[in-house]
Amino acid sequence: MPAASSHRRGAASTDRRPAADPWKVDLRELGRRPGSMRELERSVPAREGWGVEMIGVPEDALVELHLRLESVMEGVLVTGEVVAPVTGQCARCLEPIEDTLTLDVQELYAYEGSTTEATSEEDEVRRIDGDFLDLAPLVRDTVVLTLPLSPTCTPDCSGLCVDCGLRLDDLPADHSHEVLDPRWAGLADRFTPSKEN
Ligand SMILES: [Zn+2]
Ligand SMILES: [Zn+2]
Repeated sequence: MPAASSHRRGAASTDRRPAADPWKVDLRELGRRPGSMRELERSVPAREGWGVEMIGVPEDALVELHLRLESVMEGVLVTGEVVAPVTGQCARCLEPIEDTLTLDVQELYAYEGSTTEATSEEDEVRRIDGDFLDLAPLVRDTVVLTLPLSPTCTPDCSGLCVDCGLRLDDLPADHSHEVLDPRWAGLADRFTPSKEN
């Protein structure tokens, strides 16, 4: 008895293009003639893990790219501005932080086989992969290098009261606690300043 037709593998795929990665720029439109230029205006969802300990770009949050791609001898020069939303937590009082970073970028991506590529270490220069330039590593690095390791909700956030754990900025300026150690409670009673004569 012949085996049932078990060789129907996968759905019929007439369209074999890989899912388009919005961070990749197809350079075929730009061409290789030095001086050739192209504006790139795009909002692209952030990838996972673009942050440091207490602050970062939420995954899938839209990052705006306002870039200009310019063909140069050795590759493609990317200049412009990146606007990225960031969320995190104040390192002093733990309040949530929301902010928007606006960052300038300027980076040369080298063509495969160019002198720049040949004379640079693997991690020294960004490379063009075939017809595509991947903006994600550039934007990720630019954002992560800008993020503060100890973000604060306001530049002079006072943090939390060490005794009650409330935010000092939400409390009156004279907020304080009586002596908490029970061993001193008796002494405190005897020497309460308000009982002076
Ligand atoms: Zn704070
Ligand atoms: Zn307190």
